[in-house]
Amino acid sequence: MRKRFTLQEYKEGVLSGDRTKLSQSITLAESALESDLGLASDLVQEVLPFTGNSIRIGITGVPGVGKSTFIEAFGQLLVEHGKSVAVLAVDPSSQKSKGSILGDKTRMEKLSSDKRAFIRPSPTGATLGGVSSKTREAMLLCEAAGFDVILIETVGVGQSETAVKGMVDFFLLLMLAGAGDELQGIKKGIMEMADCVVIHKADGENQSNAKRAKSAYKNALHLFPLGQNNWSTPVMTASSLTGEGLSDIWEMIQIYNLQMQSSGFWESNRAEQRLNWLDENLHFLLGKFFLEHQQVQELLSKNRKRVENGERSPLSLARDLISAFFNPKKNDK
Ligand code: GDP
Repeated sequence: MRKRFTLQEYKEGVLSGDRTKLSQSITLAESALESDLGLASDLVQEVLPFTGNSIRIGITGVPGVGKSTFIEAFGQLLVEHGKSVAVLAVDPSSQKSKGSILGDKTRMEKLSSDKRAFIRPSPTGATLGGVSSKTREAMLLCEAAGFDVILIETVGVGQSETAVKGMVDFFLLLMLAGAGDELQGIKKGIMEMADCVVIHKADGENQSNAKRAKSAYKNALHLFPLGQNNWSTPVMTASSLTGEGLSDIWEMIQIYNLQMQSSGFWESNRAEQRLNWLDENLHFLLGKFFLEHQQVQELLSKNRKRVENGERSPLSLARDLISAFFNPKKNDK
């Protein structure tokens, strides 16, 4: 049985940077139990004044591009620079693929054994909306625990990038150099989201390919209009095996940080993200409570087949379900 603590105990634990309490609070926020979620959201509200002080970095790229290896090496570099680092993940497919990204701790052996680092596997068993919302709560809890940098990993295969882009200050896209096919396999939309493109595994024989890919991407990115932040996306090369290029990336992120702080984009972006976060939570919670509602469930199970057969209009059933939710007694069609 998982031990539960009082709100005050969780709060004091998180604020004092106690790793065990932090883990337990994240577990609480990931729980499926309504009572846990209520306590977790009270906890996040309580620690909110102590959040917001980290640099939030999203890292994406197709499987095999070397995200875990990069995070291990980059995380260690940050730690050497005196920063504390928390690593989180958004991976909605983790349940299907058995074992989440970051689930295999041995992939980040050195970083995970460092006292200044905290690695949390992706929450499992939820839809993207559920997972990304939990990751955001986890991020706030890590910030309240005092972490300087939050790295959020996501698999570069779909909507999860948008979710991660919506919760970070800086979005880093890892790519591989491929002879002649540099721009294949990654969607233009993801390129547009990136604040930096890194041609990864630029080591050994790969180095010259990486350089060629770098200029190809530079040219391609020139064609994109500048975003709201007026930042022209740099293309860099790096290797997590040799460590080359990693400190340049960190330097560049710090430059971005300073520029965006002084232009005001940093704060306006976070403010916009908070409002989007509210909308998302509302949609997610409404959907959840609605589908868990007993009368809605009964009415739905009675009439699903009829919709499938074409006897019942989907819109008319949907409207009846809504009125069953809001006026439970009146409606028992
Ligand atoms: P992920 O699926 O994106 O998390 O990728 P992994 O971090 O698991 O790495 C996939 C493979 O690429 C592993 O075999 C790594 O050893 C290798 N790899 C990762 N980073 C580098 C790098 O900088 N250079 C080279 N040559 N190989 C790398």
